[in-house]
Amino acid sequence: MKENKIPYKIYLDEKEMPTAWYNMRADMKNKPAPLLNPGTLRPMTAEELSGVFCEELVKQELDDTTAYFEIPEEIRDFYKMYRPSPLVRAYCLEKKLGTPAKIYYKFEGNNTSGSHKLNSAIAQAYYAKKQGLKGVTTETGAGQWGTALSMACSYFELDCKVYMVKVSYEQKPFRREVMRTYGASVTPSPSMETEVGKKILAEFPGTTGSLGCAISEAVEAATTREGYRYVLGSVLNQVLLHQSVIGLETKAALDKYGIKPDIIIGCAGGGSNLGGLIAPFMGEKLRGEADYRIIAVEPASCPSFTRGKFAYDFCDTGMVCPLAKMYTLGSSFIPAANHAGGLRYHGMSTTLSQLYDDGLMEAVSVKQTEVFQAAEQFARVEGILPAPESSHAIKVAIDEAMRCKETGEEKTIVFGLTGTGYFDMVAYEKFHDGAMTDYIPSDEEIQANIDRLPKVD
Ligand SMILES: *Cc1c(COP(=O)(O)O)cnc(C)c1O
Repeated sequence: MKENKIPYKIYLDEKEMPTAWYNMRADMKNKPAPLLNPGTLRPMTAEELSGVFCEELVKQELDDTTAYFEIPEEIRDFYKMYRPSPLVRAYCLEKKLGTPAKIYYKFEGNNTSGSHKLNSAIAQAYYAKKQGLKGVTTETGAGQWGTALSMACSYFELDCKVYMVKVSYEQKPFRREVMRTYGASVTPSPSMETEVGKKILAEFPGTTGSLGCAISEAVEAATTREGYRYVLGSVLNQVLLHQSVIGLETKAALDKYGIKPDIIIGCAGGGSNLGGLIAPFMGEKLRGEADYRIIAVEPASCPSFTRGKFAYDFCDTGMVCPLAKMYTLGSSFIPAANHAGGLRYHGMSTTLSQLYDDGLMEAVSVKQTEVFQAAEQFARVEGILPAPESSHAIKVAIDEAMRCKETGEEKTIVFGLTGTGYFDMVAYEKFHDGAMTDYIPSDEEIQANIDRLPKVD
């Protein structure tokens, strides 16, 4: 007898879409530690933060008691253009693997930015517009966040200034042109436009830049310009809050068919897609209503959870941003070149860090070549060409499904497929040519950076 078949794609209708974001922190007994002012080491106040960030976003950032935030209608209208995103049953992958496991993935790559980042970009642009600002500044590394923000700003007619890490600016001209198509101005970082950029260029002539440096430039550009604020695409609580739309849709779609997941898997860079995907499930876990295995997947070249330290650290290399208590490799840690640019961050969301420290979720690290093997295996049966970042989750979902094959367990696995990889074909080329390497930092290298963490406690 064939089981009552679940559709290949589970969609919600408009009426079933979430109308409020869910804030996991409200249900956490151990709240994430507050951001600290790097000068005074006291918790950052709303007033201090509002010089850099939009007011409404500062409120969201600091609120760890309100469980639900209504999604403004303007944002819901925008979401309707590309959401709900499909929850796909990976029947073809299951068959290919010969696993009794049931695999689902939530696909966030169905918009021009090609990733989940648009979910928060549109919210941040909305609040900037509502505050009457002229524009926002940001940094981008691989380019997904800059693209998403450009789209969001053009929708609300805001000026968008993107500092793009110089090496990406030169190597990813197509990403740059997508941003310019949406009206953003894109500056290679470090630049001569900011004091911090000039200083870095004087000290390191010919440098191709880094994310930390681009953050410092974007913050300076925002704080020295009337009517501008700085926005960030990951790590912050507000970003996890906006990304909860991923998890809320996933849960609603599963509930519609009475499906209960056993394992939930997501890749982790700064933690925003993972934090969003797991939000309502973690909420049930925190309230003691259900239990799930939750797995964060990170690159072996930048293993914040699995080899980092839970401590206060700077969020940027320039050390201008507040201190956050998180799993970190040290703000001086420069991750080796890795083709999953979106996962090359030394720290991790404070919320996820606390949940991990409390034993409420697991983490594993995976090597670059095995990630691309999984990406290719997935592309060949499921059709979608995945982003290298997303492929970290694919790799572990396949591993778990193969474990089910050994034990005969029919587990239900859900993973987040955060985006598509069309702008990453140089990475795929390296993989196909056998020219891809698996750099793993040594214990000494990691310890040397951890030794340089600021002394706070
Ligand atoms: C940015 C990005 C990530 C990682 O960021 P998180 O904040 O950890 O979610 C993952 N996948 C894609 C496609 C990205 O663009």
